[in-house]
Amino acid sequence: MSIRRLPPEIAGKIAAGEVIERPASVVKELVENALDAGATRVRVEVERGGKELIRVSDDGAGIPADEVELALARHSTSKLTTVEDLSSIATLGFRGEALASIATVAELTLTSVTANGATGRRVVAHDERVVESAPVGGPAGTQATVRGLFRSLPARLEFLKADRTELGHIVSVVTHAAIGFPEVAFRLLDGPNERLRTPGRGELRATLLALYGAELLDGLIELPPGATLGIDGFVSQPHLHQASRRYISLFVNRRWVSDRLLAGAISDAYKSLLPSGRFPVVVLRLTMPPAEVDVNVHPTKAEVRFRRGGEVFGKVSATIRRALMSEGEIAPARLDQPVVDQFFFPTGAAGGWRSGAPQPSRELDAGAAAAGAEESEGPMPPGALRSAVMRPLGQIEQTYIVAVGPSGLYLIDQHAAHERVLYEQILHADNGAAQRLLDPVSVELPPAESEWVTEHLDELRRQGLQVEAFGVNAWLVRAVPDGGRPLDASAYLRAVVAEAQQPEFRRLEAAERVRWSLACQAAVKAGDSLALDEMRELLQRLEQCDLSRVCPHGRPTTILLSREMLDRQFGRA
Ligand code: ADP
Ligand code: MG
Repeated sequence: MSIRRLPPEIAGKIAAGEVIERPASVVKELVENALDAGATRVRVEVERGGKELIRVSDDGAGIPADEVELALARHSTSKLTTVEDLSSIATLGFRGEALASIATVAELTLTSVTANGATGRRVVAHDERVVESAPVGGPAGTQATVRGLFRSLPARLEFLKADRTELGHIVSVVTHAAIGFPEVAFRLLDGPNERLRTPGRGELRATLLALYGAELLDGLIELPPGATLGIDGFVSQPHLHQASRRYISLFVNRRWVSDRLLAGAISDAYKSLLPSGRFPVVVLRLTMPPAEVDVNVHPTKAEVRFRRGGEVFGKVSATIRRALMSEGEIAPARLDQPVVDQFFFPTGAAGGWRSGAPQPSRELDAGAAAAGAEESEGPMPPGALRSAVMRPLGQIEQTYIVAVGPSGLYLIDQHAAHERVLYEQILHADNGAAQRLLDPVSVELPPAESEWVTEHLDELRRQGLQVEAFGVNAWLVRAVPDGGRPLDASAYLRAVVAEAQQPEFRRLEAAERVRWSLACQAAVKAGDSLALDEMRELLQRLEQCDLSRVCPHGRPTTILLSREMLDRQFGRA
């Protein structure tokens, strides 16, 4: 076939396909236009998941009557004039493509009246042609109505999912817009049913309350205000983890983004706090000078590029970590609340929350409250567990340590606790605090295991397990990480290699996998008998941990039977 220039209708449909993928894309573009126009109220109505009808109405600045038709033309925008503008975009839109694209794949009616009292205009466009244009009156603002999306593109229509699924996508688009703009009152109607409504009073907390409900919000920790890079938002306490990343919402300059770098910074902050394959609830909003971030790297503007990615990563991770340590972390798990399996399930597409369990209460002692108020990047504030000074009394079945402290009775899983201690020690020690063996021990490993050791040799050494090659598939262990239980170095190496290859560890980065395995295998086991002195030392070291409450796999280390709970149980309360 010879090369031909595509007729404009086809070229237009191809370009539109990049921007408008499904009904939710239409909603996203129209809502962004409303927000760019300074709206304080945005109402979204849809029918049949947006396949039949999408209508977005706002009370923004409006479009001058003589420009309404122009607004529908390709590459027409009021938001950019020079190429330089591209490097400092402060509006959500800037490509001048959305309305034109929508008009290419659906019937679009655009009605707009400006605030100066002039007559407005209504324009109906279909297949990129204006089929009607007439003056209108009415209150200032803009209304865009989209009917019959993809009706002229059967191939696209076929790819749309069930109405319910498409509505779900629309709900998340409006949810994200509402979180990015808490000062705007949003309403989403699916036919006659209201799916979502936000107060628009400017408070993020009130907006999240309207979107997610009180139960979820209770388990979230507000981020302390950042220093240079503006960061605000909420993150979940480690035990409130979810099965998917769905409840991680990221915003850069109020724009919702799906960003790998930020997602990575969040994982980094929650490192060793969540079971593998589980995710936190996070609402993270970054504010930075527009020149610091390139938003023009993706057709639907869902991805961004940071000028100083490393710095952003570090700040985000440190801010979240600090918040987790200052508040969510301080109270050990409590017996009158479910500890491990407290998951939330969304009810319906509107994203309401229901919990199968009673709510964790927020209990802050004075020290922790002060720590929460602290916002500098100084040393990590001490948590309550650290000052609790647990005093061991004995062991239950050589598995759980029983201790008393100022808040009540503590039960400590000795393996989980020791694992946490060793994990942090390995993590913090530069070139692993190793305990040299008087006599190096030689170990022979099967070829596959030997291969693994070769691959991870640097990691192992850095983290305190000093190994060197000693012939074919044979190794010499010269030192093991400090502070572990007494062990046979050769069995230790074998166990670490086996542990690190567990399938559930696969998603971890190599260094983390090695740390987990080293810590787990060197920790005392359930069934190991401990002397009181050993228990005391373990508890002291646990109290000094940054995140003492959970083991590196996200299981609790400590359960507290509080004084209040005992009072209740004994009928004193
Ligand atoms: P972009 O948003 O990238 O500029 P669009 O095709 O979405 O491109 O919109 C084109 C222009 O139409 C905008 O630049 C804006 O001037 C005007 N416009 C669109 N929607 C609205 C609205 N709801 N209120 C005011 N002006 C609008
Ligand atoms: Mg736009």
